Amino acid sequence: MINVTKTFFPPLEEYNTYLEKVWKNEWLTNRGEMVINLEKKLQKKLKIDNILLTTNGTLPIQIALKLLVDEGEVITTPFSYVATTSSVIWQNCTPIFVDIHPEYLTIDETKIEKAITTKTKCILATHVFGNPCNVDEIEKIAKKHSLKVIYDAAHCFGVEYNNKSIFKYGDISTCSFHATKVFHTGEGGAIFCSDEELRHRVYYSHNFGHNGPLDFHGLGINAKISELQAAMGLSVLPHFDNIVQSRKKAVEFYDDNLNWNNLRKIRLRDNLKWNYSYYPIFFDSEEILLRVQSKLNQNNIYPRRYFYPSLNTLNYVKYQKCEVSEGLSKTVLCLPLYKGLENEDLKLIVDIINTSLC
Ligand SMILES: *Cc1c(COP(=O)(O)O)cnc(C)c1O
Repeated sequence: MINVTKTFFPPLEEYNTYLEKVWKNEWLTNRGEMVINLEKKLQKKLKIDNILLTTNGTLPIQIALKLLVDEGEVITTPFSYVATTSSVIWQNCTPIFVDIHPEYLTIDETKIEKAITTKTKCILATHVFGNPCNVDEIEKIAKKHSLKVIYDAAHCFGVEYNNKSIFKYGDISTCSFHATKVFHTGEGGAIFCSDEELRHRVYYSHNFGHNGPLDFHGLGINAKISELQAAMGLSVLPHFDNIVQSRKKAVEFYDDNLNWNNLRKIRLRDNLKWNYSYYPIFFDSEEILLRVQSKLNQNNIYPRRYFYPSLNTLNYVKYQKCEVSEGLSKTVLCLPLYKGLENEDLKLIVDIINTSLC
C-alpha cells in the first residue's frame, strides 16, 4: 500500500540511546534533559532564539488565541486543517473567513481589510503546505488596525523566508510535530514568540499557570511535551536533511512527469527555502478528481483530499462564502510524498494520473 505519507522511524538503537538516558534520569516529563536538549538543538537547527516545545500543534494555537484574543472576531483562512478553525471556536471566538489566493493558497491579504470590524482582534493565518502567507502585507495591515497576528505554521518545519526562519513572523507562530509531519516527535509541537513578556505568559500558560510549586502567575492549561516525545525528536532530527533531500527528489519527479495540461499546482513564494512537505495537485473538476482517486485506490495508492472540506462550510460555523477555497478544496489531492517512496512507485502514480486524465 502506498499512502499519502509514511512516518519516518529512526533506527531503533538511536532512539534507545536516548531512552536509556531517560531511564537513568528516572524523569518522564516537566522539562527534563531530553526536552531541554531538543529545544537547544532546534534553536540551532532553525536559527531561532526561542522555542517552547508542546505536546501537540493544536494547543499552541489555543494558547495563542487565549493570550492574544480571548474573545471577539478572528480573521482566518478557510483553507487549512480543521485545527485552525476549531481552535477559534473552542476559544469562544468568532471566525471571520477571508478567501485565499488561487495560486499561493494562503489567505488573500487584499481582502483582509474589508473584513475588519470594531470586534476584530487578530489575524490567524496558515502557511499552507509550507508556503508562507504574504507576511509583510499582513504585518502592515495588522499594525494599521492594531491587530495581533498568529501563524499556524504546522507545515513549516525548516522553512525559511527572506533568509530567516518562518517561525520568526507574527506575534506568535506555532508548529506541529505530529507523526505525519516532515519532522516529528510522534505527537508534539512548538510555539514561537519574540516578545519577552508574551513569551513568559506563553510559558506559564502551557504548564497550568505555575510559578513554582505553590504559586500561580495566572490561568493555564497543560500543553507540556514528555521526555519520550522529545527523545523521538532527538533521534529523528539528525535525519531531517536527508528526509528533505529524498522528498525533493520525489517532488522533482512529479514536477517533471505529470501532465500539466490538465492539472495545476501550488505557486511557491519567491525567496523561499521550502521543506517539500506536501505535493498538492488541482484538477479541473471534482468529478475528474474522484475518477483519478478511484483509479489510484484500485492500485492500492491512497492520496489524500487535503484540505477538504473548506473550513467555512463546517457544520459548526456560520457559513460565509469563500468561492476560491470551496472550489480548490473540492479539486485538490495531495500525492504520496515521503522518504522511502521508490522511483517505481512514483512512476506508477504518475502513469495512472496521466492516463486517467485523457
Ligand atoms: C497538523 C496540523 C495541525 C495540528 O497539529 P497537531 O500536532 O496534530 O495537533 C494544525 N494546523 C495544521 C495546518 C496542521 O496541518
